Amino acid sequence: MRCPKCGCLDDKVNETRMTKEGDAIRRRRECADCEYRYTTRETISPTELMVVKRDDSREEFSAIKLRDGLRQACWKRTVSERDLDCIVAEVVEKLSSLEKREVASRTIGDLAMRALRKVDQVAYVRFASIYHRFEDIDEFISEVNSLSDER
Ligand SMILES: [Zn+2]
Repeated sequence: MRCPKCGCLDDKVNETRMTKEGDAIRRRRECADCEYRYTTRETISPTELMVVKRDDSREEFSAIKLRDGLRQACWKRTVSERDLDCIVAEVVEKLSSLEKREVASRTIGDLAMRALRKVDQVAYVRFASIYHRFEDIDEFISEVNSLSDER
């Protein structure tokens, strides 16, 4: 990202968060040269990416839905809202970098698990053992919820 103050192309990201509305990712950046701080905002257009479900049906990708699903799946663990932001931000970034119009729901689940591993090892280990039995993030979330209900 080009520094708006000095034009330097080198920067570091200090913070990555989802907006409250869940429709964009904000990054606090700092210029590597002059240390000027600025914010960038990335959005993903929902019509740009279709999720292919296991039964071959398709639905528009929704970062909000992914976040809600992860929050449900993580409710027994203390995965903070901030960690959820990081997970969703990373998944959206990876999906954008794939530059595909369609992506399998399984891929989204895998990306989410990889991001979860970074922020919460314990939650990752617990969920990974459950997740790998399923093909689909939705199925995984409902299984985690039913386990939570039994306790
Ligand atoms: Zn600068």
